[in-house]
Parts: sequence; structure tokens; C-alpha cells
Amino acid sequence: MDRATLAVAAGRPLPTPDAPLNEPVEFASALAAGGAVEYTRQDARNSRALEQTLGALEGGEAVLFGSGMAAVAAVLDVLAPSSVARPPVLYSGTSAALAARDLHQQASLDWPGPAADLTWLESPTNPDLRVIDIAAAASTGGNTVVDNTFATPIAQRPLALGADVVLHSVSKYLSGHSDLILGALVCTDSGLADEFRRHRALYGAIPGPMEAWLALRGIRTLDVRYRRASENAAFLAGRLADHPAVAKMIWPGSPDHPDHALALSSFDVMPPVIAIIPEGGQSAAEALCRDVRLWTHATSLGGVESTLERRRRHEAESDLVDPALVRLSVGIENPEDLWEDLSAAFSGIRPDH
Ligand SMILES: *Cc1c(COP(=O)(O)O)cnc(C)c1O
Repeated sequence: MDRATLAVAAGRPLPTPDAPLNEPVEFASALAAGGAVEYTRQDARNSRALEQTLGALEGGEAVLFGSGMAAVAAVLDVLAPSSVARPPVLYSGTSAALAARDLHQQASLDWPGPAADLTWLESPTNPDLRVIDIAAAASTGGNTVVDNTFATPIAQRPLALGADVVLHSVSKYLSGHSDLILGALVCTDSGLADEFRRHRALYGAIPGPMEAWLALRGIRTLDVRYRRASENAAFLAGRLADHPAVAKMIWPGSPDHPDHALALSSFDVMPPVIAIIPEGGQSAAEALCRDVRLWTHATSLGGVESTLERRRRHEAESDLVDPALVRLSVGIENPEDLWEDLSAAFSGIRPDH
């Protein structure tokens, strides 16, 4: 079945007369003895429903974690690499988690890359939006982990390209409403999935039932949200590229992006994140973030609402990222309204701030 269908149809209870169509939220710690679970730090019904849906979408077995970073820690603990090959710029939290370990790291943008126990990828990379050839990277040898938070299974399915593990910050597009923190690992090796589950139970990273329920509700509309946001991004990328206040517009869907050809062959839908470097550098970037009104100045991404931020305002962000780079997470509002707000902010006609 198509991913649009799986997002809606997977992870539901069997239809039973007068029972709900969705797994109800189950608040529980101890379960009556005699079953396979007994205590919900081991496993939980709402997590399982979301795992079935995400597993169906990515084509593997999903294990849910309390955050994306808990999933990062679990995969590094379980795979225990002593060397990692990675792109120069990665999500800052992942970079910090790699730096905190006793690891030999090698950076590359060309794959198959350097030989290592583990290849850690994002495509597109956060926040500089480079695109990586996952199939080529996965052929390097060693394990390949792909953080698929930006592309989601709507745009690309790394397990089918040879990746061993897919990682998600479910906090972003999958849940889609900027209202929860969750993470997940997905793999095709069920022995490895069992190890991830054991790690989760041992260190206590099982999500709460309300978060899992909300995220599953969000995933039901993932396909429509992602496609609409991508169309909006295409519209805005065109306008931004031509605007005199923008020194550089970075979007893999744009023909002048250095990885455009790879983006066309990699993504079924172009990811809805754009990066811009305004004319006037850091202070112009700060003014833009301050002067928007419909857009929200906020970190994170992947919600229905459009947000933007200057990434280097975070100390943890890589110094390879331009200090003036503003990352735009394009939402599902009307694109003309989004553009009107951005262009008003660029023109500095909002003196009341
Ligand atoms: C946000 C993010 C993470 C971390 O996930 P949390 O849910 O915030 O813990 C990991 N990778 C990427 C690409 C992210 O954007």
C-alpha cells in the first residue's frame, strides 16, 4: 500500500462492535500479572500502535523512545562504534552526542566515504541542507544510521536503500504540531530491534501514553501536511531567490542547489525546510526573526505553523554554519500570506517592535 494509506490505516485495533477506531489512551504503570508486559516501562499499548504505523511507513520494525536524543543515545550504546563517518554538519545535538564519546570521527560529503564502524547520515543535513546519496553511503561497510527527521518516510525510505537503522525525532514532522517530544529507531533486523527495546527498558526511555497517542494522531495526516508544506516551500523558494534582501537561498528543490540532481532522484517530495542568508549578515537575520508576525521565531521544525530561527544563536551549532543563516520551517498556511509576512519583515516596515 501507498504511504498515504499506511499513515492512516496502520496501527489500529481490529474493528470490534462499539469499540473505538483508535487505540484509546491507556494511563497505566502496573498491569495485572500473567501477561507478557506487566509493567509499562517495558512496553506500552500506545507506543505499540505508533510503532506499528511508523514501522509500516519506513518498512521495518520501529522502537519508540522518549525523545529523538534518547534514540541517538540508544543507537550509539547498542552499536558501540569506535569510529564514525559523518557529514561535516549534522543536527547539533547529534554532533554533541558524538563528541561526548570516545570516537574517531571523519567528516565527508562524498560517499561511499571513509571506512568506519558506523556511518551516521542526515539527508538533507541540518541546517545547511546538503543531500547525501544514502545507497552509496550504505555500501561503504559497517552500520549505516540515517536520521530521517527532515525527509520523513514520505520523501525517502532509507531502509530500502540499504541503511541499517533509521532514526526519527518524532517531535518534528511525524507528530507535526509542535506539542510533544518523542523519538524512534526503525530497523529490519528484529534481533537489533530487541536490543533497542532492552536498552529502552533498562534506561527508562519509554514514552508516556499521551505523547504516543498525540503523535499517532499527528501521523495520520503526515502525507497531506508534508506535501502541502513542500508546495509552499517551492513557492517561497522562488520568491526568496529573487528578493534583493536575500544574499543566498538554499533549498535542494532549487535548480541552482549544488545537490539538486541528487535531490530529484532521492526525494519523492522535496523537504519543506529552506535556509537563507540575508543581505546584511547576522543583524539582518536577527531583524527578520524579530519582525515577522505570522511566522513565529522559534526553534525546532516540522509543525503545521511556519517558524524560523537563526541557527547560530545556539552555542551548540556548528561554526561551519554561516552566522547569518536563518532556517525556515515552512508550514501549511496559505503561501501568499506567508510571503506577505516575510516580505514585510524584509522591508523593515514594522517599527513598533
Ligand atoms: C530535533 C532533532 C533531533 C533530536 O530530537 P528530539 O526529539 O528533540 O530529542 C535529532 N535529529 C534531528 C535532525 C532533529 O531535528
